[in-house]
Amino acid sequence: MSQLKTHTITLIAGDGIGPEVVASAKTLIDAACPNIIWEEAEAGAEVFKKGIASGVPQATIDSLNRTRVALKGPLETPVGFGEKSANVTLRKLFETFANIRPVREFPGVPTRFSGSGIDMVIVRENVEDLYAGIEHMQTPDVAQCLKLISSKGCDKIMRTAFEFARSEGRKSVACATKANIMKKTEGLVKSTFEKMAKEYPDLESWHIIIDNCAHQLAKKPEQFDVIVTTNMNGDIISDLGSGLIGGLGFAPGANIGHDVAIFEAVHGSAPKYAGKDTINPTAMILSGVMMLRYLGEFEAASLIENAVMHTLESGIHTRDVVTDTPPVGTKAYTAAILGNFGKKPSNYRIREHKPMKVPARPSSTVVTKVEKRETIGMDVFVEFGGGAAELGPKLEAACQGTGFKLKMISNRGTVVYPLTGTAPDVVDQWRCRLYLEIPVVEVPLPQVHQMLQAIEGQGLRWMHIEKLCKFDGADAFTKAQGEN
Ligand code: NAP
Repeated sequence: MSQLKTHTITLIAGDGIGPEVVASAKTLIDAACPNIIWEEAEAGAEVFKKGIASGVPQATIDSLNRTRVALKGPLETPVGFGEKSANVTLRKLFETFANIRPVREFPGVPTRFSGSGIDMVIVRENVEDLYAGIEHMQTPDVAQCLKLISSKGCDKIMRTAFEFARSEGRKSVACATKANIMKKTEGLVKSTFEKMAKEYPDLESWHIIIDNCAHQLAKKPEQFDVIVTTNMNGDIISDLGSGLIGGLGFAPGANIGHDVAIFEAVHGSAPKYAGKDTINPTAMILSGVMMLRYLGEFEAASLIENAVMHTLESGIHTRDVVTDTPPVGTKAYTAAILGNFGKKPSNYRIREHKPMKVPARPSSTVVTKVEKRETIGMDVFVEFGGGAAELGPKLEAACQGTGFKLKMISNRGTVVYPLTGTAPDVVDQWRCRLYLEIPVVEVPLPQVHQMLQAIEGQGLRWMHIEKLCKFDGADAFTKAQGEN
């Protein structure tokens, strides 16, 4: 073990079972790598209770700004209040754009897939997508959440997935998206992956639709090596992955940024088990192992990983593992691992790890340039309590003399005007697609203003507008369901 370099690490115990799993991981890390100095910091439930709406106090932000590395217990997220998740806040403040979640079969942990050789890593984009957290009640009845995907974000997560695959000597990378339905957002993920795959000819690469990915994960999980995917998809399939190998108690994770990394288990604070000395600290311990590798402490990492696998293989486990041998408590399990330092499992091979190349922070804000930009109209979202047959003529009347014409109206994404003869169930939020009679580079503000005033003149309330553009001749928007 290296005695040369001291590492200062921010330690966040977290909520619920957090303090127990973090204490277990810390005990083993301290024993394997004495050159770590911990800086304790708080976040989560207690911080919310103090009235700090973000759940992350400035002192914790300052600590992480100094140390650039944290080992973090799970944080409780208040459901249904105004508060945001403190976890997501930390990930976003420090731009930890990649969430790396290994899913590997454990010795001594019987599951219905035992013996199949599951050994994959899910690389989840960590800051964009529906987790951008931009939500509005558009009407008292209709909520909206913006799904944001950027080409820069796609670039970074794809680069990370391919580089991670190389650092672990893996053979293939699959990209899982819903590009067949969300052609612009998930489509950008797919096209970035396919472009970048050409730079990694040593790795096999393929695209898979996320729903089939879930199906394949349940059917034949051993076919996957590295899966890279968007934030929401990754959240779901990584929990699915944990289920394949014995549950959330066995799922470690790392949030990787350009120069900051936060290591945490995939599981949450499991409040019903808090303080009971029964939960499984393996996920947190292995998150600590990932942290040691990130710090370059490869020997200490392998010492702990080998001891964990030897302990499990010898039949010592916590209550979440169902075998013939009785479970032990969290503390006794930790002590057994400590006692097994220096021992190796017979049926588990530790992978060779090389330091991973994290993509450098891009210097510019804009990455994609277009030669030709056109504005061909705008979508105006209006609130209206009546039906399409009533709303359509109102919009047509409003368009008179404005330079706009009504292309169509959709409700919940489906065309309802011009009337289609079908009867979709409607809500009070309507998307009115207005085309300019003459497309322009930028629609003049007074013309937009005139159009919105005319809409209001029809007794309609508008909530938001979205320009309809073409970039280099291609539509920068999608059609409604049923729109021609
Ligand atoms: P959870 O805390 O992950 O617990 C779900 C279930 O997973 C538990 O009831 C337990 O299953 C099992 N489990 C989780 N951790 C385990 C461990 N270490 N050992 C053994 N079994 C374990 O999910 P949740 O109940 O949905 O969320 C609770 C709180 O945690 C919420 O406030 C949520 O927002 C937060 N959360 C935080 C993070 C994070 O900090 N990164 C992540 C996820 C959730 P059984 O009941 O079957 O025994």
